[in-house]
Amino acid sequence: MDNARRAFLRNAALASAALAAGRLSAQDAGSDFTRIAAEETFTIPEVLEALADLVARDPDSVPPYATILEPEMSAALVDLGAGRIAAMDAARIDKQILGIWSPGVQVFGASQGTELARLANDRLAEAIRRHPDRFAGLATIAPQDPDAAAQEIERAVSGLGLNGVLINSHTNNEFLDQRKYWPILEAAEALQTPIYLHPRIPPAQMYGALTDYTLYGALWGFGIEASTHAVRLLMSGVFEQFPQLTIVLGHMGEGVPFWLSRLDVISSSRPGMPSTARRPSEYFMDNFVIVTSAMFWDPVLTFCHSVLGPERILFGIDYPFAPSAVATRWMDAAPLPAADKRMIYQENAERVFSL
Ligand code: MN
Repeated sequence: MDNARRAFLRNAALASAALAAGRLSAQDAGSDFTRIAAEETFTIPEVLEALADLVARDPDSVPPYATILEPEMSAALVDLGAGRIAAMDAARIDKQILGIWSPGVQVFGASQGTELARLANDRLAEAIRRHPDRFAGLATIAPQDPDAAAQEIERAVSGLGLNGVLINSHTNNEFLDQRKYWPILEAAEALQTPIYLHPRIPPAQMYGALTDYTLYGALWGFGIEASTHAVRLLMSGVFEQFPQLTIVLGHMGEGVPFWLSRLDVISSSRPGMPSTARRPSEYFMDNFVIVTSAMFWDPVLTFCHSVLGPERILFGIDYPFAPSAVATRWMDAAPLPAADKRMIYQENAERVFSL
């Protein structure tokens, strides 16, 4: 039995024990907040099948990513019911905010991607209707067709009641600062709904340097790809065009908070820099929030807390890829004031995702 399977069974056993003991509420006795986890992954079987088809047809079209998912992980990702809720209960998670597994539908042709995005959003909305107290969710879109993607944001947020949009970073090696994608940013801003910029395997321009040692994946490539995307947004001036837009970054901001001072200094002191109306750090403070997903480490939490303040950090796990119980134990014990923990666990997510 591999570790993922063992962990899954252990979580299921813990959940059963908790249920048997009558602890049906995920809310811990003595805590006066709700534990909301903001980067929790799902997919639908149709998207997995389409990925498998794509890999079979053209093995080079999707870097190794789509082929390494173990059956236990697939099962956890497509479970939008009892198994997922048992894992949440075992880790004392009250609510998951669900987003589609990377790369979502962004590797397909525009029409197939748009169709699968609609299906994923319908399924997600159904799951939320069945378990409104346990799930919220982010819309899947296919940026391959920016206008259709903008329409789907409107349908998913206004029509289906979803709580934001999740984009698995680059699409066909392109980034959201490019003008052709602005209809997506415009729709999100108009609906006052956030865009979760989630990592994926880096684009072709970066990938070549990351093929050794599996650097392309969660080890390193995800973070530098997503951070590069975020810095492109900061330097491109898109926030002058869309000043109310909110971007969510996982993994403690993908390292960007660490770089804010240097971004400001270099961009204001060297010739040839793009001129934006405000400093990169000012846009970051106004237009970004970060999530703790899979980065359960006090030094980086206290650093981000000191730079951004408690109102711009949200709790998240990265279920099922990161261990939920480890995450809640860590945040429960984190060296922050209780009021700040309440913001990080609950209030910030309620505000950002209009829960
Ligand atoms: Mn993730």
